[in-house]
Amino acid sequence: MSTGSPPKRGFSTQAVHAGEDRKKFGDSLTTPIVQTSTFVFHDAKDVHDYTSKAKFRFEYSRYGTPTQRTTEKKLAELDGAQDCLLFASGMSAVTTALLALLSKGQHLVITDDVYKKTLQFCQNDLPRFGIECAITPMGDYKALEKAIQPNTRILFSESPTNPYLNILDMKKFVAIGKKHRLTTIVDATFATPVNQQPLAFGVDIVIHSATKYLGGHNDLLAGAALGKERFVNEVRDFQKTTGGVIDPHCCYLLLRGLKTLSIRVARQNATALTVAKFLEKHPRIKKVYYPGLKSHRDHQIAKAQMRGFGGVVTFDVDGDSATTQKVLENLKLCYVGPSLGGVETLITHPASISYYDMTRDERYAIGITDGLVRLAVGVEDAEDIIADLEQALAAVFKKG
Ligand SMILES: *Cc1c(COP(=O)(O)O)cnc(C)c1O
Repeated sequence: MSTGSPPKRGFSTQAVHAGEDRKKFGDSLTTPIVQTSTFVFHDAKDVHDYTSKAKFRFEYSRYGTPTQRTTEKKLAELDGAQDCLLFASGMSAVTTALLALLSKGQHLVITDDVYKKTLQFCQNDLPRFGIECAITPMGDYKALEKAIQPNTRILFSESPTNPYLNILDMKKFVAIGKKHRLTTIVDATFATPVNQQPLAFGVDIVIHSATKYLGGHNDLLAGAALGKERFVNEVRDFQKTTGGVIDPHCCYLLLRGLKTLSIRVARQNATALTVAKFLEKHPRIKKVYYPGLKSHRDHQIAKAQMRGFGGVVTFDVDGDSATTQKVLENLKLCYVGPSLGGVETLITHPASISYYDMTRDERYAIGITDGLVRLAVGVEDAEDIIADLEQALAAVFKKG
């Protein structure tokens, strides 16, 4: 028998097996939920081995748990990262990472169509701690570079973005970061490691809202930051203080979800493309935004750096806000609600939910039109999702 290193395993195999010890407690096949707040020391040597770092072990659950560590190792493997740190939510990952890596008097540059709460944190909260940010238009790399100041430390972006699914050109983004010796961070929630691995392009830190595709069942909140050990350790040390940790039961749900990540996302990629093509032909849909369509502004970049285009399709209904909400009300399969990435198809009308607090002019200035709808496909049959959309549109537009 060969004694060489085992062959490199495929993504689906790694999703099931990576990070998991082959021999587990009680000969269990699955990783147990170690539901404890603290870990005990049996003698002074135990304590010494721990404090001298002679032996890795757990101490207190705010500093990590076995179920968490297994989940982190699996996700690190899938994203091609040296290390991973999990959080109580995606926003906890974003805020903890930025606060860990930035200090008073420093500056970051962020692209404009990132997750709304991320932008709010950078615009409204970081300045309270003496950290300023510049916001530059997504896709404008000249503006991005021009916004860099002597005290800039971080470039932050997202890809694909919400709701227009604009795609960051990773090569250009990383080149600017390297030239100015900045830490680059990308929120890659919408892509998942199945479709895109920003670390392979040289991005320093990847952030995910694991609430979405990674968990995949619309039943948990979690976040992740991944990258080189030295970055992740810096953030981990800060998380030990700020405490936005993930609990063991949630880790278990995430671990379980990750095992089917590749098959779920493959299905969602295929369904979203089919639905996008259907919508593009529908007479009452003005425009469809999907990076897998030739009509999308970033189709070429998406094709060059992604293996799939994701499960979110955004489209503009030919009607005012009330008409669009009527279409949503007529859906019988898709649920109306925020979030994305789970097994159930979810649909949302940004103008009346995420941006309800803005005037129409303010919304239109950032491209949130009255008829805009974001559809996040689940793992149902594409034909059923299309039939549901078709009947809901027909019900509203029957009189022409
Ligand atoms: C949902 C989301 C977040 C926030 O994650 P939570 O888990 O809800 O805290 C951040 N970024 C993106 C792109 C998201 O979709």
